[in-house]
Amino acid sequence: MTEPKLKDKNWEARFEKELFSKWNTEGLYKFDIGSPKKILSIDTPPPYVSGHWHPGAVAGYSLYDMIVRTARMSGYSVYFPMCLDRNGIVIDRATEKKYGKSMHDYPREEFIKLCEQLITEYGDSILEVAKIIGMSCDFDNVYKTDSEDYRTLTQATFIDLWKKGLVYEDYRPSNYCPSCKTVIADAEVEYEEKDTTLYYVYFKVKETMEKVEIATTRPELLCACQAVLVHPDDERYGHLHGKNIIIPHYNREVPVIPHGYAKPEFGTGIVMICSFGDQGDVALFRELNLEPIVAIDTNARMTEKAGKYAGLSVTEARKALAEDLKKDSLVFKEEKIMHRTPVCERCKTPIEFIMIKEYYLKQLEYLDDIRKQADKIRFYPPRNKQILINWIESVKIDWPISRRRYYSTEIPLWYCKSCGRTMLPKPGKYYRPWIDKAPFRKCPKCGGKEFIGETRVFDTWMDSSISNLYVAKYKKDKQFFKKVFPNMLRPQGRDIVRTWLFYTMLKSRLLLKKRAWKYAFITGMGLDEEGKKMSKSLGNYVEVRPLLDKYGADSYRFWAAAETKLGDDFRISVERIEGASKFLNKLWNISRFISMFEEREKPEHLAEADRWILAGLEELVKGCENGYKEYDFFVPANAIRDFVWNVFAPHYIEMVKSRAYSGDQSALYTVHTALKTLLKLLAPICPFVTDKIYRDVYNASVHKEQLPKAQKWDRKLTRLTEKVIEFDSKIWKEKKEKNLPLNAEYGAKVPKKLMMFETDLRAMHKLK
Ligand SMILES: [Zn+2]
Ligand SMILES: [Zn+2]
Repeated sequence: MTEPKLKDKNWEARFEKELFSKWNTEGLYKFDIGSPKKILSIDTPPPYVSGHWHPGAVAGYSLYDMIVRTARMSGYSVYFPMCLDRNGIVIDRATEKKYGKSMHDYPREEFIKLCEQLITEYGDSILEVAKIIGMSCDFDNVYKTDSEDYRTLTQATFIDLWKKGLVYEDYRPSNYCPSCKTVIADAEVEYEEKDTTLYYVYFKVKETMEKVEIATTRPELLCACQAVLVHPDDERYGHLHGKNIIIPHYNREVPVIPHGYAKPEFGTGIVMICSFGDQGDVALFRELNLEPIVAIDTNARMTEKAGKYAGLSVTEARKALAEDLKKDSLVFKEEKIMHRTPVCERCKTPIEFIMIKEYYLKQLEYLDDIRKQADKIRFYPPRNKQILINWIESVKIDWPISRRRYYSTEIPLWYCKSCGRTMLPKPGKYYRPWIDKAPFRKCPKCGGKEFIGETRVFDTWMDSSISNLYVAKYKKDKQFFKKVFPNMLRPQGRDIVRTWLFYTMLKSRLLLKKRAWKYAFITGMGLDEEGKKMSKSLGNYVEVRPLLDKYGADSYRFWAAAETKLGDDFRISVERIEGASKFLNKLWNISRFISMFEEREKPEHLAEADRWILAGLEELVKGCENGYKEYDFFVPANAIRDFVWNVFAPHYIEMVKSRAYSGDQSALYTVHTALKTLLKLLAPICPFVTDKIYRDVYNASVHKEQLPKAQKWDRKLTRLTEKVIEFDSKIWKEKKEKNLPLNAEYGAKVPKKLMMFETDLRAMHKLK
């Protein structure tokens, strides 16, 4: 027996920083493409650069790191890139907000500079947190989605898609965010229940001058009404079939069409169809072949079609028109209702459907293919694949990929000034057509020598959806691609299945005719303690840095593993994180005790109690194996905690103490074997505390070890565990009832079934 090799009395978060820099200087996680080991590569989600990192996301990235560490300790060489997402509308909007001015009020170049400045201000706080939580990725090669290199690949793959005939331009009704001032894809639309007013308005039947009542939430769209519908079976309105209705205020006539879309129970049962109040209108215009009337322009203001309301914003026009209708006694009732309103995912502004010309990437004809590919991808947990399938089933239009924004990858196209021909540059270079000189001498069609550069940019998912190709060095390093692409895993949150997951699968299918990855790991979302979405505006936001500073990364990681069923949402609880730190301290304390003793060889005969705990340990290893295989860290985290907390520390360590102090070979062999096994088992989840103990006690890094593999064990022994717990608890309880200290001598008999442990139990309880 010597001084404990673990000097400090408690596990402290401050050890983590020192360990992290040790890992770095030792190059512990360096990826070696030439290694003979099997390769697993990770399509790491690039966290969006902003001032802070959501605690739920930090938990997610901790889980991704556990996958990587599990794979490494299972014999894989893991390629684990790190990255930052710095493209898109979010940066634009944050910059606009900061300076209180719309980007369209700046020269484009100046605005882009301001965006770059803001990104620099946000700085590397995300990378700092990634390091603090112990991510074992390559911090020397962090890629950024707004780098010239990345944007070059986005543009090169777009050029490929164009050449394959998969891109087209079309003038059609599109989701339009009046605040972001751009078209957005269906995947970027969310729905919110919003208060709105349902106006009951009098219309007239042209043929009979009969009054009919129509309810609408969008009176400002009266000018764009092209039909009214009644349900074919609605007996109240059978007589209106084939007649025409006069629109109030505009005095235009439109047909009454019997159609199942009209719901007899909503409003008055008659519904007006306008271009475009909602998705339903868009579909009906197409189906009924109606001529759209463009009532709203790209600034979300009313056009001249709205008559005297032209130039007003949509909401202003709604109010004004409703007032005018009321003055003319044409509104006979108003009703407050909750309305399921489509809003922009980023800024929550209700979207409009406006006619606009945009570029589209074909996806409708590939939906079946993508569904088939989903069957070839292994999902963790398998049930989360359904989120993707549900989305695929809801896709109704091709993907609008052009955006009218600034801080994004430019669409690499020019147009001949004289004949309008679209000119495609050669791939392999980063193009900014709004400012760069056109890379062509003359138009092959008309010989024109002047070109106009495209000013629009890509939807940010056009960049993100090639992340798997970018990290695999597609179009750059064939050998690397060949080795790294086939065994790739995509970890990500459930909230971006319909965008990032789906679009990446689409792109890989269109470009390579291949599945995007072999595995997809889908995590749930971090919610507050009451299960509500956590956000700064709701006031329930928890900053992650103070938590990490106080409890350390391993507590956070252990909590993330132990509290989250694979793929489910989870609640962020400071109390639980604190609880996790208590467990780490427990582990530290027993390790410190064991570290007083020299490790010994396995003796020829092991004491019965040692055989018993080693059997228990094998059972634990088996349980952990099952969890690790599924990347379900909930299983090993809870199994290890339960074993250490409820069996190993209170019962076995107490039983073995007296033999350990007397230098018994079997005892010393067993305590060290058990400790090493526990540390290796826990290393993917808590890389700091396990490595600190392993280094201090065994002079090596636990991260170079392999995960233990379960051996057969004697189940007769493990069945005794309950009996041991029962007996010990009984003695403790009796001593307490008699006000005896736990180390007092006591008269009791060891039960028959536990006679094999008699010596240890007698020593432990000081039985007379
Ligand atoms: Zn928006
Ligand atoms: Zn031309």
